[in-house]
Amino acid sequence: MKKKKPNKFPDQAQGQPGDQFKMLPEPEIIREDYKGSKKLDDKIALITGGDSGIGRSVAVHFAREGAHVAIVYLEEDEDALETKKLVEKENRKCIIIAGDLRQQSFCKAAVERCVEVLKKIDILVNNAAVQFPKDTLGEITNKQLKTTFETNIYPYFYITRAALEHMDEGGAIVNTSSVTAYRGSDHLLDYSSTKGAIVAFTRSLSQNLVKRKIRVNGVAPGPIWTPLIPATFDDVTDFGQDTPMGRAGQPSEVAPAYVFLASADASYITGQFIHVNGGEQIGG
Ligand code: NAD
Ligand code: MG
Repeated sequence: MKKKKPNKFPDQAQGQPGDQFKMLPEPEIIREDYKGSKKLDDKIALITGGDSGIGRSVAVHFAREGAHVAIVYLEEDEDALETKKLVEKENRKCIIIAGDLRQQSFCKAAVERCVEVLKKIDILVNNAAVQFPKDTLGEITNKQLKTTFETNIYPYFYITRAALEHMDEGGAIVNTSSVTAYRGSDHLLDYSSTKGAIVAFTRSLSQNLVKRKIRVNGVAPGPIWTPLIPATFDDVTDFGQDTPMGRAGQPSEVAPAYVFLASADASYITGQFIHVNGGEQIGG
């Protein structure tokens, strides 16, 4: 029998970055009945923030579709090793690379490590991020502003620039924005701004790379049950209830959009976003 998706969560709190193994309940990574059909057979994917949450789910779905993956994460070794185990269970390779994406030198080294071990890059998923909810603009210090932009958008340039040296025709880039880029967020002013920048970056890069036949798209998730949530919100009990579906999404419900955009099924799609948000109507 299929498990019912929760619409209430137990009270819990963590620091950033959060750990998936501490979450109650643990997020659903992939549906038990998800069948791979070699959509990404023998492709090599580099996924930032691939240790947990949406990134882990993308790694496991890509593996079930036949891809080998490299995941980049800040410091959550236990989560990263679990992702590696799950990918290897699909009989695919997984390398894990810990470090701070705010450092351009690390971004370059991560790309080089991926190519050294897995030999190429076919798919790049830019997905790591932080957020620091604040009720007023006055509470956003310059330090926070810098951290948010340096983590959420600069590495999209650093990693992509390095990865493009190794990507050929047929390659795909999938970026993670957010519903907050489209509808705004009164308590995530800096975060939503970086997510808006990711939308513009995706559209611009798609035009820039169209002649190289590399597609660039993105996913704009609504509220998804991942470590980021208990790590950053004081009260998670009602998380996601304000969506038309009345509940938060699970990473297992987001990752298939990345599979689609990364695969040949999306061969005529570039510069676009898929809105995985429980039914919120988004213009543009
Ligand atoms: P998550 O905590 O599982 O993933 C975020 C990852 O970013 C972490 O695992 C961490 O390792 C990585 N990271 C953070 N700072 C880093 C740094 N300096 N260097 C290297 N790695 C760093 O949470 P998630 O919700 O799966 O987040 C994935 C993406 O989804 C993010 O871009 C987030 O903005 C986006 N998103 C999430 C939601 C949601 O409700 N969960 C909604 C919209 C968008
Ligand atoms: Mg993590």
